[in-house]
Amino acid sequence: MIDAARGPVQSLDMTHTTDVIVVGLGAMGSAAMYHLAQRGVRVAGFDRFVPPHAFGSTHGLTRIIRESYYEHPRYVPLVQRAYELWADLERRSARRLFHQTGGLMIGRKNGVLVSGALRSAREHGLEHEELTAAEVHSRFPGFVLPNDMVAFYEPRAGILDPEGCVDAHLQLAVAAGAELHVEEPVETWSAFGDRIRVATAKGEYDAARLALCAGAWNPTLIDDDSVSLRVERQVMHWFTPAREAELFSPRRCPIAMIEYAPDRIFYFVPDGGDGIKAAIHHEGELTDPDRVRRDVGNDEVDRVTELLETYLPCAAGERRRSATCLYTNTPDGHFLVAPHARHADVLVVSACSGHGFKFASAIGEAVADLMMGVPRPDLDPFGRERLAQTSTARSLG
Ligand SMILES: Cc1cc2nc3c(=O)[nH]c(=O)nc-3n(C[C@H](O)[C@H](O)[C@H](O)COP(=O)(O)OP(=O)(O)OC[C@H]3O[C@@H](n4cnc5c(N)ncnc54)[C@H](O)[C@@H]3O)c2cc1C
Repeated sequence: MIDAARGPVQSLDMTHTTDVIVVGLGAMGSAAMYHLAQRGVRVAGFDRFVPPHAFGSTHGLTRIIRESYYEHPRYVPLVQRAYELWADLERRSARRLFHQTGGLMIGRKNGVLVSGALRSAREHGLEHEELTAAEVHSRFPGFVLPNDMVAFYEPRAGILDPEGCVDAHLQLAVAAGAELHVEEPVETWSAFGDRIRVATAKGEYDAARLALCAGAWNPTLIDDDSVSLRVERQVMHWFTPAREAELFSPRRCPIAMIEYAPDRIFYFVPDGGDGIKAAIHHEGELTDPDRVRRDVGNDEVDRVTELLETYLPCAAGERRRSATCLYTNTPDGHFLVAPHARHADVLVVSACSGHGFKFASAIGEAVADLMMGVPRPDLDPFGRERLAQTSTARSLG
């Protein structure tokens, strides 16, 4: 928790001085700006591009949200809060940002996906069904699964509009008084006394507190060797269904994650008008956000086409396009939302590891709480300490 004893930030009246600076206005930073501005905190946000944009981790038209979290049951209360806040954002922005489709977690019964989702559902009493391969096919005929696979079905899963969510958060933040600096990358930051100073090519800005939400650029920006964050290139693909397109409409077809080999997952999003979307989760090359290989190889397209043909044989028609995107991974695959190792008033927000978007509304609220000295013990599992102790284990306790 950030310096709770100091309480809410006091306003100052100097030029370029504010209460809180947020660096990076993608999924997490835009939500943090919104929640801070709503509370009357003076907040200035900076981005190196004009968000929403396609150079970081928050583009590609769709993000899956699901409640029975296979990664760990501890995420469930946070995602439930995120659902509430996304609904609230829809109301306040008068935009449709969420489409409920239901969700299938498919794999071997004892695989990480199915067993993890079941564990979360049982611990939190969540509505769900367990389906055989044949039952999946009769209910959702686009899926043709081998008989040794089973599925976990949850009704609340669905699709968020990532670009729309970022835009809505930013617009409402600005309407509430937030200061927006786009195409203004933060070059350095430093702490002096009880202030934090941020420098860009255009000037210097002081604040009492700083939130580093720079996504794939956080590993260099945070300047903390005790935390290992690695950036992984990911590729998303869109296809026109080959046959029976109506089977893949979001009205009839759920989102799906399929564990096609132990701990190896690909996911599928039904066709909301831009084609069905499919991608492999992880298995990408490590990269640097400023030097990402943006061209997509035929081998990468073939791999996903093959997976679709195996499990959704009518889905893989003509490929419409592919796009690259970035994961920022912690060693154990869980989030990092914690004060900086050397500066208690600087919060490092790296809620990604490839599954963070759905939480952005709730993480934004949590960042606002922490900036205002409100304790959030529910975020303790996302602290730095566990990363110092572990290198690869999935270790959320
Ligand atoms: C292909 C793909 C699919 C995914 N699918 C899902 C999914 O289905 N469900 C889900 O929940 N999650 C999913 N995720 C993960 C999720 O999208 C990310 O966790 C989330 O978008 C990360 O948000 P962020 O705010 O950390 O990063 P970003 O949204 O990338 O924001 C970082 C921002 O910081 C800015 N910035 C960087 N450096 C500076 C600087 N020096 N100064 C100023 N600004 C700076 C960047 O321009 C950028 O706008 C997916 C990710 C990818 C790549």
